[in-house]
Amino acid sequence: MLLNLISNQWTPSGSPESTPVFNPSRGVEIARCPVGTAGDVDAAVAAARAALPEWSQTPPGDRARILFRYKALLEEKFQEIALLICREHGKTLVEAQGDLRRGLDVVDMACGIPSLLMGQKLGQVARNIDGEAERFPVGVCAGITPYNFPAMIPLWMFPMALACGNTFLFKPSPKVPLTAARLVELFVEAGLPPGVLNLVHGGVETVHAILDHPGIQAVSFVGSTPVAREVYRRGTANGKRVQAAGGAKNFMIVMPDADMELAADAILSSSFGCSGQRCMAGSVAVVAGRAAEPITEKLRELAQTMSVGATDEGAPVGMGPVIDAVALDRVQRYLSLGDQQRVEMLVDGRRHARPDEGYFVGPSIVAGVAADSGLLRDEVFGPVLTLLREEDLDAAIALANTSPYGNGAVIYTRSGGAARKFARNVNCGMIGVNIGVPAPMALFPFAGWNESFFGDLHVQGNEGIQFYTRTKVTLTRWS
Ligand code: NAD
Repeated sequence: MLLNLISNQWTPSGSPESTPVFNPSRGVEIARCPVGTAGDVDAAVAAARAALPEWSQTPPGDRARILFRYKALLEEKFQEIALLICREHGKTLVEAQGDLRRGLDVVDMACGIPSLLMGQKLGQVARNIDGEAERFPVGVCAGITPYNFPAMIPLWMFPMALACGNTFLFKPSPKVPLTAARLVELFVEAGLPPGVLNLVHGGVETVHAILDHPGIQAVSFVGSTPVAREVYRRGTANGKRVQAAGGAKNFMIVMPDADMELAADAILSSSFGCSGQRCMAGSVAVVAGRAAEPITEKLRELAQTMSVGATDEGAPVGMGPVIDAVALDRVQRYLSLGDQQRVEMLVDGRRHARPDEGYFVGPSIVAGVAADSGLLRDEVFGPVLTLLREEDLDAAIALANTSPYGNGAVIYTRSGGAARKFARNVNCGMIGVNIGVPAPMALFPFAGWNESFFGDLHVQGNEGIQFYTRTKVTLTRWS
């Protein structure tokens, strides 16, 4: 049974109940994660509150020194952590390395906290009065993360929150708690004082205890839209600052003048990378005008030849399993829906299913999908690409804008005018031009819109720093 980390001590949860952690490549249990209790949250908040006065007064340069040591440890243990991600998540080794590398980018940025936190000053803002604005930590922060990026998403949160002088309670996904525990353990090894970063395992009840706890000032959440909406509602109703990122349905538009080789490779990696379990996965490709035939053939050929297999030992396969039996069942249900709706199954990933060995389903491409089909509207969160045809760019943009989500959209074209029109008119926060996924980059906010984000300040970049700090303005007159 996994342990919580409270005040730098590994501590058992108050709950005897637990959920299984699987190796999705084999379908076997590899650990058990406690379901958690309100008492666990209370203990972590007490530790974080006790550590706050000293940590928030620690000079940013001293906090940065611990972050530099953390970065060095993450680099040193890079391969070990990547393999842990392969084992408990099912990503390929390359995907797992990407997951950790993107998280490390945030640690790199947080190492610059002394400069990032510098305030503003205007002498003589009024007659004989000087004004200055300074950023202060918000207090005890909490982070609640999904299963699909075991390293990157936790690292969006606590390195920057701690760099800003807050203390933290981290509740990882119970599906991937092993990577979470290792990330926290290494931060402690880097020199974090007790109580600054606390780990509490658990599920729904633990999340509710976090949202209701009066000792927590800010909550960062990433997960599915229904949960994100509720976390935002409940957290803000309890007076907390909340940023809650949700699910997505991302459109990719292929123009007739696109480089078809580039577009096909990019769509393939966007739709089937991480077995389609990315909030930025492209799940609908809209082919405008006469682009249809060349790209369809190319995609079919590439998807059919993609290798699918176990990733737990870092084997060089094209695609691994999905996370668990529930996810496998969901993907298969959407493909059965396609059968019922008589869509055109250009590639059927069910031929890779081997439920006795692990949670495998190969890449699927469906076409001829009706406007109200779940294959077009819902987040499948698996390796299923829906292919559609539209007359022209305007029609393709209008279709993309019918989605209630707003994480990302991509265009493939050689026309600057088409790219500009697309970027300015598509109704979402992350835009790609001739790339696979407009991935979250540490230096920019990860700017989901609509039903993909609830809150005001996004994770990462300058908005991340603003979320984890509050501004104090001082006006001074000396006679
Ligand atoms: P999830 O919503 O099931 O779980 C996320 C977290 O919430 C976990 O820690 C989980 O324990 C907790 N949780 C689950 N159900 C809850 C409930 N009813 N009440 C309170 N807490 C609950 O998400 P998941 O399946 O782990 O992750 C996949 C989802 O996350 C997808 O929808 C994906 O698009 C989304 N996601 C979004 C982003 C983004 O930045 N927008 C990034 C990654 C993943």
